[in-house]
Amino acid sequence: MKAAPFTLHKPGTLEEAVALLAEYGEDGGLVIAGGQSLTPMMALRVAYPPHLVDINAIEKLSQLTVGDGFLSIGATVRHAQFHRHFVEAGTLGRLLSSVVHHIAHYPIRQRGTFCGSLAHADPSSEWCLVAATLGAELRLTSTSGDRLVQINDFLDGAMSTTREPSEILTEARLPLLAENTRFGFYEFNRRAGDFALGMALVAYDLEGGKIRNARIGVGGIEEKARRLAAVEAALEGKTPDSEAFAAAAAATVADVDAMEDPTTSAQYRRDLSGVVVRRALEIAQTATRF
Ligand SMILES: Cc1cc2nc3c(=O)[nH]c(=O)nc-3n(C[C@H](O)[C@H](O)[C@H](O)COP(=O)(O)OP(=O)(O)OC[C@H]3O[C@@H](n4cnc5c(N)ncnc54)[C@H](O)[C@@H]3O)c2cc1C
Repeated sequence: MKAAPFTLHKPGTLEEAVALLAEYGEDGGLVIAGGQSLTPMMALRVAYPPHLVDINAIEKLSQLTVGDGFLSIGATVRHAQFHRHFVEAGTLGRLLSSVVHHIAHYPIRQRGTFCGSLAHADPSSEWCLVAATLGAELRLTSTSGDRLVQINDFLDGAMSTTREPSEILTEARLPLLAENTRFGFYEFNRRAGDFALGMALVAYDLEGGKIRNARIGVGGIEEKARRLAAVEAALEGKTPDSEAFAAAAAATVADVDAMEDPTTSAQYRRDLSGVVVRRALEIAQTATRF
């Protein structure tokens, strides 16, 4: 099938881009970034935007910088830019480079963008999980100016966000991690490159052999990636051992409201949530280089 007819706009500045979206956004006009989700949807006519605003020529949206305790990721920063450890981001850079290989396939990672993943809001997006677990702050830009939104207020459900049609997600900011923060990521899918059926990201500081400041999130399980406060509380102050991990897995299973689809039952996903959290905790505990 071919995409429905559309008009492609290629603004060279952010000012032009937000003006175009102010004009066409309410009538179904969309931003196109990497095009790795939108173009297949258009080819299948699941999406048929009459206008596309291509943001790839806007130089300032391609920046990846560290400052003020944050990693700032511009709207056209590709997944593949995290293949190599972004050293300026320290431990966070290592975390991102350990997660990125789980996203789709190599050619898709060369075009797809970090911010595009957040805007697309697939429940199984690895970057949505990273952003939700670490507490990302997002910048949304329109002709009215900028507004900053916390990731939890941005992700609204499966493929749904609180972004207004006239807004461009111009920047995602992730807080840097302490040098001694331990982290682990674990994902389960049936074939390499598929969207995850379930995944978990954990990060914690180890102080005097005890877990402090635990951040535990799951993705692909519920309609949106979510940090699990009950599981974090169950781990706080505990020694990272199999007993604590089993308790965290049980707390996860009790906490999640798992999705169901034609191939995977809610019960399966609920059980999987405990497994992925336990395995991510084991990876965080045993990894020798953080
Ligand atoms: C075969 C295949 C496998 C995949 N597997 C995975 C996977 O395992 N994990 C995963 O996370 N993803 C996966 N993807 C999706 C891929 O990661 C996409 O790159 C990503 O979902 C969207 O990024 P994009 O830049 O390509 O966005 P686009 O396709 O350009 O846009 C997607 C949506 O977001 C909107 N949008 C994009 N950028 C912005 C912005 N800055 N401001 C406002 N709106 C914006 C668009 O209007 C559109 O609605 C897969 C894709 C394919 C084709």
